[in-house]
Amino acid sequence: MRQTLQRQIILEYLKENRTHPTAEDVFEALRKEYPNLTLATVYRTLNTLADHGIILRFKVNNKYHFDGFNELHLHFYCQKCNRIFDLESKELNKDINSIIKKIEKSGKTINEYHIVFYGICEECNKN
Ligand SMILES: [Zn+2]
Ligand SMILES: [Zn+2]
Repeated sequence: MRQTLQRQIILEYLKENRTHPTAEDVFEALRKEYPNLTLATVYRTLNTLADHGIILRFKVNNKYHFDGFNELHLHFYCQKCNRIFDLESKELNKDINSIIKKIEKSGKTINEYHIVFYGICEECNKN
């Protein structure tokens, strides 16, 4: 399979599934439809996309997860249902920007951040 096609397929999958999959998850989801795809290729493609800032890569429980929504945002990992949620709101973004400004006041520049909160999601808290 051509490299550009592999990239396209994997990127499309990530854009359509905002579940923050690992490389194994992506491979498992695509292998039936694309039997020529290998886990090594999926790894390489995901890491290349992340290196270029096209997708996000961050660690949860010592495993890398990937995110097609590449604007910096916060994540919440539910330790009960194992799902990773996006935390998005204008208010949160304002708070994060103010934290970044405070850090950068000392002369540092921040290029990326990966904040993951661990806890129990609202759905699991109801049960
Ligand atoms: Zn949950
Ligand atoms: Zn996300």
